[in-house]
Amino acid sequence: MRPRFHPRLINGPFEDPGLYIPFLFDNRAILFDLGDTQPLGSRDLLKISHAFVSHTHVDHFIGFDRVLRILLGREKQLCLYGPAGFFKNVEGKLAAYSWNLVKNYPYRLGLHLTEVHRDYLLTREYLCQNEFIPAGKAARKSYQDVLYEEPAFRISAAVLDHGIPCLGLALKERFHVNINKDRLAALGLQTGPWLTDFKQALYEGMDFESAFETRSGKGETRQFRLGELAEQIALITPGQKIAYIADVSFSPENQKKIISLAKDSDHLFIEAAFLEIHKDIAAEKHHLTARQAGTLAARAGAKQFTVFHFSPRYSGQEYLLQKEAREAYREEMS
Ligand SMILES: [Zn+2]
Ligand SMILES: [Zn+2]
Repeated sequence: MRPRFHPRLINGPFEDPGLYIPFLFDNRAILFDLGDTQPLGSRDLLKISHAFVSHTHVDHFIGFDRVLRILLGREKQLCLYGPAGFFKNVEGKLAAYSWNLVKNYPYRLGLHLTEVHRDYLLTREYLCQNEFIPAGKAARKSYQDVLYEEPAFRISAAVLDHGIPCLGLALKERFHVNINKDRLAALGLQTGPWLTDFKQALYEGMDFESAFETRSGKGETRQFRLGELAEQIALITPGQKIAYIADVSFSPENQKKIISLAKDSDHLFIEAAFLEIHKDIAAEKHHLTARQAGTLAARAGAKQFTVFHFSPRYSGQEYLLQKEAREAYREEMS
């Protein structure tokens, strides 16, 4: 199976966090956290449709300015999500600059913000043509755990405690569609953009009896029944799940929420700021130890996990944190 999402941490484990998730075959990406975004080029940043900020400590949010700079003057709509107080944080960033000339830009950037509270969401728009001054009041809707949803995937969040609210995040693909290339060739069909429409039809739950048209490079079309085509060329497997946990304390309530959010994830990215010998410092700073991170990964049943966000006190000793997390995972699993 070729996964659709290819998550990668933007920086090394001692640097500011950010998880970049590009989509296979789609000129698009999602970002979890806005730490130091320097390693991402303009092309990478322009692909981002949705960015989710776990919390606005400077190491998770300093990359906002660079994203703003690259996107400004483009016809681009960016959706940004953050915890309670997020509007004020973004407004503070925007207030640092003068915007008297941007309303004449031919290409207009729009920032669509969502503030995530425990049981409701607030949304607000900040448009370049309005000098980023939001119009009207924020809209409110109730919220349980799904922040954003498309036919193919959804993003869920849990409001965790890090001394301040901090969002744990999970991306879940509904199911995964692989195309059997041999079958495709046997039917005399060629790959092309019609395959994206075909997958979309499956994700949207289109009636299997409905007609579906394939298209070759020369523009030739052929009619199939959607179900018949799916049976012939599609291999449908469970969807991918990626979870991201940054900056949390090891409180019983956080543990419960993390295990539920990251349940059965294919890949869990989880902070591990300290070693277990420094667990008192970890607790004081509302962070996890590597041991706690490995234990949570195992309790969530994560198939694979990566620890990150190490305290600089362990510089050159990242293997100690990785080893401690791995051992805790194995212990818990056995
Ligand atoms: Zn942090
Ligand atoms: Zn923090």
